Amino acid sequence: MNVYVRKEVQAFEYVSFTEFKKEKDLEFCCEKFRKYCAIVGSWSDKIGKFSLVEDNKLIPIDYCPFCGEKIEYITVE
Ligand SMILES: [Zn+2]
Repeated sequence: MNVYVRKEVQAFEYVSFTEFKKEKDLEFCCEKFRKYCAIVGSWSDKIGKFSLVEDNKLIPIDYCPFCGEKIEYITVE
């Protein structure tokens, strides 16, 4: 499945940081992963990927944990 990622810079008076937002119209590879993301909200704005939390660390997901399809992250301007 393809995930389109948009880079956004949040600028404040003293600090700025970059966030990675996924495009809303996303075609999930399978219904299980779609439901999982709706419930758990596993998108990480920091790394711009779906992720799991393991031992308090963010683990990026490159393959669907349910059907095993590769997840392509495509950056759009
Ligand atoms: Zn899947």
